This record gives sequence, C-alpha cells and structure tokens, in this order.
Amino acid sequence: MSNILDCAIVGGGPAGLTAGLYTTRGGLEHVVMYEKGMPGGQITQSSEIENYPGVTGEITGMDLMMPWPEQCKKFGLVHEMVEVKQVRKDGDIFSIIMSNESIAHAHSVIVCTGSSPRRAGFKGEDEFFGKGVSTCATCDGFFYKGKEVAVIGGGDTALEEALYLAKICAKVYLIHRRESFRAAPNTVKRVKENDKIELVLNATPDEVYGDAMGVNGIKVKLQDGTVRDIAVPGVFVFVGNDVNNQVLIQEDGSFLCDVNEQGQVIVDLSMRTSVAGLFAAGDMRIEAPKQVISAAGDGAVAGIAAISYVDELLN
Ligand code: FAD
Ligand code: NAP
Repeated sequence: MSNILDCAIVGGGPAGLTAGLYTTRGGLEHVVMYEKGMPGGQITQSSEIENYPGVTGEITGMDLMMPWPEQCKKFGLVHEMVEVKQVRKDGDIFSIIMSNESIAHAHSVIVCTGSSPRRAGFKGEDEFFGKGVSTCATCDGFFYKGKEVAVIGGGDTALEEALYLAKICAKVYLIHRRESFRAAPNTVKRVKENDKIELVLNATPDEVYGDAMGVNGIKVKLQDGTVRDIAVPGVFVFVGNDVNNQVLIQEDGSFLCDVNEQGQVIVDLSMRTSVAGLFAAGDMRIEAPKQVISAAGDGAVAGIAAISYVDELLN
C-alpha cells in the first residue's frame, strides 16, 4: 500500500490542531488533519474567552484560534476540509473513509472530534448562543459576576454548575421541567440549601429574548399554563452532552475502541485508546474538563505518543 500517512488527525479544534503541531514539529513527515469546517473548533462560537493562560484583554474564540492553523502549516501539517465518515483498522493500517467516499490510509490516528452540548430547543436559543446563552459556566460565568442568571436542566451538570455560578453571581434561577431532579441526592440537597439559588420547577423554557447587546431575559411556561418572565442577562443550558464519536462506529454498530456508557472514549494518560495506534484527545475522552487548555494539552500528549508509536512500528 503506497501513500500511507504517518498520522491522520480527525477534527481540527484545539486538540486536533495541537496534535498536528506536535506530530509535525516532532518529526512525523506525512500528517493530515481532516476537519469538516474551518479549523478552530467549538470555541470559535464564543464571543469572549478569558481563561486561556497568557492571553489577556478582550479576545473572541475566533481571535484566539486564528493563528493556530498557520503555526501548524509552518511545520508541514496538511489540512483537508472534508468530513470523516469512519475510521477502521485492518492489521496495522488504519483506513480513514471520508463522506465524499475517498479513503486515506495511516499508521496512526488521533481522533479529536469533540463534543456537542445538547440544545433544549426553545425560541432564541440558537440566535443568542454565545451572546448570553451559554453551555459552559467555567467559561462564561465570570461575565455575570454580581448579576442574576438562569440555569436550565435537572441533572448533575445543571445542579453542579448552578452551585458554581452561585459563588460568582448575585442569584441563580434553576429552571427545571419537572418537580424532581436526576442529580445525585447530595447535590440536590446542597442546591436546596443554597440561599442564592431559586428553584423554578415544572417550568419549560419557552423563549430567550434580547437585543443586539445580548440577552435580556427568559420566559418559562409553568404547569398552570401561565408564563413567568425572568429578567436575566445570562442563560446557561445544561440538558446533556453528546460526544462526537460517530467516526468510531463500525459496520456492525460496535465501536472501534472501548468507550464508556456515555460514549466517551476510554484513554490512558498518554491518550492511548484500547486499539494500538489509535489515540483520542480533547472533549471526546473520558473525564474531559471540556476546556481549550486541556484539549490542547491532550493533543500535545497524543501527538507525542503517536510519534513513539510510529517510530516503534516502522523501525
Ligand atoms: P472541538 O473544539 O469540539 O473541535 C472538534 C472539531 O472536530 C470541530 O472543529 C468539528 O468541526 C470537527 N469534527 C467533528 N466531527 C468531524 C468529522 N466527522 N470529520 C471532520 N471533522 C470533524 N473552553 C474554555 O477553555 N474557555 C472558554 O471560555 C470556553 N468557552 C466556550 C464557549 C462556548 C460557547 C462553547 C461551545 C465552548 C466553550 N469552551 C470554552 C469549551 C471549548 O470550546 C472546548 O472544550 C474545546 O473546544 C474542545 O476542543 P476539542 O478539540 O476537543 O473539540
Ligand atoms: P442528564 O443527566 O441527561 O440531565 C439532563 C437534564 O436536562 C435532565 O434533568 C432533563 O430533564 C433536562 N432536559 C433534557 N432535555 C431538556 C429540554 N429540551 N428542555 C429542558 N430540560 C431538558 O445530563 P447531565 O446533567 O449533563 O449528565 C450527564 C451524565 O453525566 C449523567 O449520567 C450524570 O450523572 C453524569 N454527571 C455526573 C457528575 C458527577 O458525578 N459529579 C457530574 C456531571 C454529570 P428530565 O430530568 O426531565 O429528563
């Protein structure tokens, strides 16, 4: 088989781009990063990022990510704008099948396809996403320091993030569509005991509204059919998260490597999966902190591990 890549990287967010930087700069010669859109990943949707070390001043996610592809290109990373449909392995060789049916072959693969927070589906959610509607309290909570915010959801994430936001914000309205919560009993207890959290139960989000400056509030439908208007500049949606693991699904429906019950890829500290030569990095791996810095760190670790794997395989 000719033209076998040293490494194929699937996904061009912070994890994929950093894996690209480390593999090429670290000596792998034929590395291609497959990214279905513009490189940069989900952070490019954010209007402001202020927790990336060393980056001060007002900067958008797009601004942050802009130089990353250029830096990788300098060391030889090739970017192909195409969607990957599936990754397979036959013997020691991986096949990367694209949605346009073209196929590439590689000695190693680093999968960095990220995750997608689920949307709740109310009016204005998409329009104000990144402009007042957020799915990341660690990232955006600080913008609402001393202000009131709303949190949507009744699982562990929503309640834990409500507790986190209550430390920063003046008040948190926790909006949940039922009376009881899915979250762990102790977390529910802590939420109920927190003076800064008001529970808005049996309440379905109906509409987030605002103007060019951002969100002004959220309207929720209550059980008795009335609508409650909650004036807040920030709405945090935590209604579950989907790992983008589709490329690992094989013809028979099984996964190419081990994943946990949430579909997150199980990796060791070198980002090695259960399949030799296959690495996973960033939001899609188990216990991911879901931050740009950690995704980039994972990409570096996976890149270094891929270099060792390919060296050993070919020499
Ligand atoms: P992603 O960034 O999700 O990148 C995955 C890439 O893979 C995407 O570009 C996607 O197009 C591509 N891809 C997926 N499937 C395929 C396929 N089949 N074929 C080809 N390409 C594919 N983190 C912070 O640290 N600070 C913040 O302030 C912050 N704010 C955020 C604000 C918002 C609105 C959001 C949504 C997230 C925020 N985050 C923040 C989280 C951060 O963006 C993620 O943790 C990080 O981007 C994860 O990087 P990743 O490389 O693992 O995945
Ligand atoms: P989750 O458990 O699936 O909870 C999602 C919540 O969002 C549910 O309360 C659900 O309501 C609500 N919801 C879903 N769709 C909605 C919609 N369209 N509109 C309004 N509300 C909607 O998701 P998660 O909280 O992200 O947790 C995911 C998994 O990770 C869980 O297994 C969780 O236990 C785990 N986790 C664990 C920890 C921890 O152990 N510390 C922390 C975080 C997450 P209903 O309840 O009515 O369905």
